[in-house]
Amino acid sequence: RSQSFNGSEKHVQVIARPRPLSDNEKSQNLTSCLNVNETRREIIVNCKTSTTRFFNYDHVFGFQTRQQDVYKVVVAPIVEEVLKGYSSTIFAYGQTGSGKTHTMLGVFPIDKVSKDTVGAYMSMLESDAGIMPRAIHHIFQGLQRQYIDYTVKITFLELYNEELTDLLADPTNEQPEKIKIYEDKDKTNTIIGAIEAPCETPFDAFKILIKGAQRRQTAETLMNASSSRSHSIFTMTVTMKDAQGDVDLAGSENISRSGATDKRAREAGTINQSLLTLGRVITALISNEKHICYRDSKLTRILQDSLCGKTITSIIITLSPANEAETLSTLEYGHRARSL
Ligand code: ADP
Ligand code: MG
Repeated sequence: RSQSFNGSEKHVQVIARPRPLSDNEKSQNLTSCLNVNETRREIIVNCKTSTTRFFNYDHVFGFQTRQQDVYKVVVAPIVEEVLKGYSSTIFAYGQTGSGKTHTMLGVFPIDKVSKDTVGAYMSMLESDAGIMPRAIHHIFQGLQRQYIDYTVKITFLELYNEELTDLLADPTNEQPEKIKIYEDKDKTNTIIGAIEAPCETPFDAFKILIKGAQRRQTAETLMNASSSRSHSIFTMTVTMKDAQGDVDLAGSENISRSGATDKRAREAGTINQSLLTLGRVITALISNEKHICYRDSKLTRILQDSLCGKTITSIIITLSPANEAETLSTLEYGHRARSL
């Protein structure tokens, strides 16, 4: 079913989350180019050219906003809609190092989870855990309260160089099934060949999340690459109705700023292609164009339903305070997406 925010026509909301300067940035004497006015929902950029620019969003967080407050403001109301049967998507967009993984996954006691799920579960809610583990907790709580019968399945994919990899597949399995995107008659894109892990309890879901996140980490270390070149897509499907997903988009940095070698340039180019296509799709949707180029990248195919109004979608733009050029480009991207 299609749905919108607060009974308006709006089905996409854009939220800005700047992170504080890191100790490393401080030790390099870097300064913040950003100010935040939370009440006016405004990000203020003090540019080196001594001009000041203002950007408004549906919500703006302060530098010190806690993970539980991000959840409460952005995600909790959406999960309540999911529990009524609507689909939703939450994705993070921002340059490498701006806080996408921190916002989506966060920091929580992974070691404790494998040994002592109940204790870890409770301490998770007190910790720096991000949106995904909190959403798992909330969804199961709601399901257990409101429904007698439900099933939950999780898929967790990585998109790298326009190739989809299953983060839940056994990495020692030499010929894993190819993951494909299939478009059916009503133009809905379905992902086929991905492992759908059944979850009976929130602990099951929690363990799957951690397993996938660790695989992503290991793969990065092996390839000697950073997550700046991969997107990850975590989807929970609740069978009493429909699905919602969380997407952590790869770095949106400008191609000229990333890697030097050919391979890296090509990889950066592919990421950029996904993100450029996403930008073009957003522009085309805003200007009511008839042909929307979803097919030009896997990312936009996967996000098609989320962008075209079939689901409620929240875009969290994450901002690095010390990087004016990248931050401005993220702010502009997010600003355009507000008109969706
Ligand atoms: P990305 O996934 O966008 O590349 P990360 O989430 O890995 O970036 O964040 C980069 C670094 O900044 C990490 O060390 C992370 O802990 C820190 N960080 C990110 N966002 C915040 C925040 N809101 N508050 C404090 N630290 C943050
Ligand atoms: Mg990351």
